[in-house]
Amino acid sequence: MQDCIFCKIIKGEIPSSKVYEDKHVFAFLDIAPVNKGHVLVVPKNHSLDFSDMADEDIKAVFVAAKKIANAVMKGTGAQGYNLGMNNKKAAGQLVMHSHLHIIPRFDDDGLKHWPAKKYTEGEAEKVKDVIIKQISI
Ligand code: AMP
Ligand code: ZN
Repeated sequence: MQDCIFCKIIKGEIPSSKVYEDKHVFAFLDIAPVNKGHVLVVPKNHSLDFSDMADEDIKAVFVAAKKIANAVMKGTGAQGYNLGMNNKKAAGQLVMHSHLHIIPRFDDDGLKHWPAKKYTEGEAEKVKDVIIKQISI
């Protein structure tokens, strides 16, 4: 897509620190890492977010992410990693070309997990039902 920053990175029109590339996938260091070694894995086909991705791109991105995440752990000495995807503005998505974050995690990195809410009595049952109604197989 013409004005998409990640499409430009994939085409080499904007420089990036590439760590991996195959037929369907391009992966490079996030310019503003949560921890050093933070990688973005992107499908070469432009799609807006996870909901917009073709199933074959989802497979390609996650298969590549498994390889890359193991390499990030070994290369950086991280003890773990988070896989994350921000989908749509409300979820904090800034770049509208789907991308999976691989964030290396260290035992002492001080990052906190997101806060947890509680369901009121009977609420989980209702929430479960509205979701099930929308799932199409
Ligand atoms: P988000 O859309 O919120 O999932 O995050 C977009 C991510 O892209 C941010 O973590 C940015 O630091 C990263 N980013 C934006 N521009 C570049 C770039 N030119 N090279 C590498 N990473 C980038
Ligand atoms: Zn794009």
